[in-house]
Amino acid sequence: MNLAVQSFKPSRMIDLESLIRTVPDFPKPGIQFKDITPILADPKAYSQLIDQMSAQVKLSGANVVVGLESRGFVFGVSIAERLALPFVPARKAGKLPGDTVKADYSLEYGKQSLELQLGSIKPNDKVAIVDDLLATGGTAQAAEKLISILGGNVAGYFFAIELLDLNGRQVLNHSVTESIMKF
Ligand code: AMP
Repeated sequence: MNLAVQSFKPSRMIDLESLIRTVPDFPKPGIQFKDITPILADPKAYSQLIDQMSAQVKLSGANVVVGLESRGFVFGVSIAERLALPFVPARKAGKLPGDTVKADYSLEYGKQSLELQLGSIKPNDKVAIVDDLLATGGTAQAAEKLISILGGNVAGYFFAIELLDLNGRQVLNHSVTESIMKF
């Protein structure tokens, strides 16, 4: 066996889409819930996903990562750490201590509010907004509103998954809207 040749085999990319579990009618009838937990349970798949998302965030020139509660924290923290950037959590209403700014939005399955701490984004910061999934775009839009209230600019939106039928990227109105897995 020729070991030198064997070691030059290109490493295979994992098919991330195949790891996403679709759960019908969760948490409400009619919703096709995309379950990311099989990717979190597979270190190689997770690492590949974070590599791919980090490369996109790096290209955007962002100097800070905002993750959207709660699955946006999982990916956002890993991306921020990988790129040595600060991470800022955008949380559901009433969770952050101190003074905050708040924006309301509608979800594919309900209503919600998102908050950022005052001072968490500096004027002219270039912000990467990170979440697990883009559906209607309402959550990411609320995050953009908060970032602009604090004087920051959106460098781009970065999602692990995009639900193409809901056309959320249309409401985001930003040239940099990236997703790794499309359904
Ligand atoms: P939207 O604001 O409509 O773009 O919804 C995006 C947010 O809702 C993300 O934080 C997702 O975690 C969650 N979400 C919406 N629809 C789904 C879905 N079908 N499967 C999993 N999560 C979803």
